[in-house]
Amino acid sequence: MSIQYWRVRDRYYRLIGSKCTDCGDEFFPPVYRCRGCGSDRIKDKEMPKTGKIMTYTVLHEPLPGFEAQTPLHLAVVELENGARVLSQVVDSPEGSIKTGAKVRAIVRRALVDGESGQIIYGYKFTVV
Ligand SMILES: [Zn+2]
Repeated sequence: MSIQYWRVRDRYYRLIGSKCTDCGDEFFPPVYRCRGCGSDRIKDKEMPKTGKIMTYTVLHEPLPGFEAQTPLHLAVVELENGARVLSQVVDSPEGSIKTGAKVRAIVRRALVDGESGQIIYGYKFTVV
């Protein structure tokens, strides 16, 4: 898990997704084949950092590794380019996390690897 994480770390920090060079659809996480037209002519594309909440859920039961982050807000965010990202929403005022709310991507501590003590960072979103 760690090896793969470090390999893709920069991609996640910069929200690198994919753009289909045939139909122009953009995707995140990256894809090998366009989900719109089926083309395999795909290139890397940095995703916009802002979007809006399409739908969300609140988890009151802590997930393993997320005990300190309960309740946990999990949202499907539609980025400015139409790509959809499932992500945690944090650092937002009570009641501001709702469908249609504008959000931007931030880098936050995601979890601590219990065995190595290594802190893993990832992208999350915050209401703007
Ligand atoms: Zn396409």
